[in-house]
Amino acid sequence: MKTGWPIQLARRRLNILCLGAHADDIEIGCGGTILKLLQAHPGSRVVWVVLTARGTREKEAMTSAAAFLRKARSTKIITKSFKESYLPYQGKEVKEYFDTLQRVIDPDLIFTHYRHDLHQDHRIVCELTWNTYRRHQILEYEIPKYDGDLGQPNLYVPLTDEVSREKVRLLMEGFATQRSKRWFTEDTFYGLLRIRGIESPEPTKYAEAFYARKVVLE
Ligand SMILES: [Zn+2]
Repeated sequence: MKTGWPIQLARRRLNILCLGAHADDIEIGCGGTILKLLQAHPGSRVVWVVLTARGTREKEAMTSAAAFLRKARSTKIITKSFKESYLPYQGKEVKEYFDTLQRVIDPDLIFTHYRHDLHQDHRIVCELTWNTYRRHQILEYEIPKYDGDLGQPNLYVPLTDEVSREKVRLLMEGFATQRSKRWFTEDTFYGLLRIRGIESPEPTKYAEAFYARKVVLE
């Protein structure tokens, strides 16, 4: 049986699954890494799932995902309309959805929320990711927020200035509804990219960072 383990990034075409509770989570957490992976593996297939996207937010989620994924060979962008902020309280329906997702893709690499994220929607997406995918490489991304839950990640993806600028530009262009929020600014995104860049062993200015709770070395 094919599984996502051990991680085989040498493979030219990757199957990548991106999971996010809200429109913009995936882009903020791993948008630069996705752009970089698709440059290196242009034949990749990406399934991109946003669980709470309704109305304008759904349109933004679809358009933004398409912009980040334009170098993928094939993409499947899925938006669900679960109620934002209430994901844990719709647990049965959300879990049933994750069960169906298993049939959509057998991923080499999964991006999901961080286990100790203090947003309840983010946390349950992480929990269900680990429930659903038992032998796959999961990387948990981080989202800066009011609650202050940034920790110490253990996997770094160095990003060029060009890719970092592209990430921030696409974020700012893609989510007009968020621009009124005081935290949704270019310097927020560059700030975190820069801090993770300082911590990264590579000399690039910017990086994204992840929590890899299990990695298999072969
Ligand atoms: Zn979110």
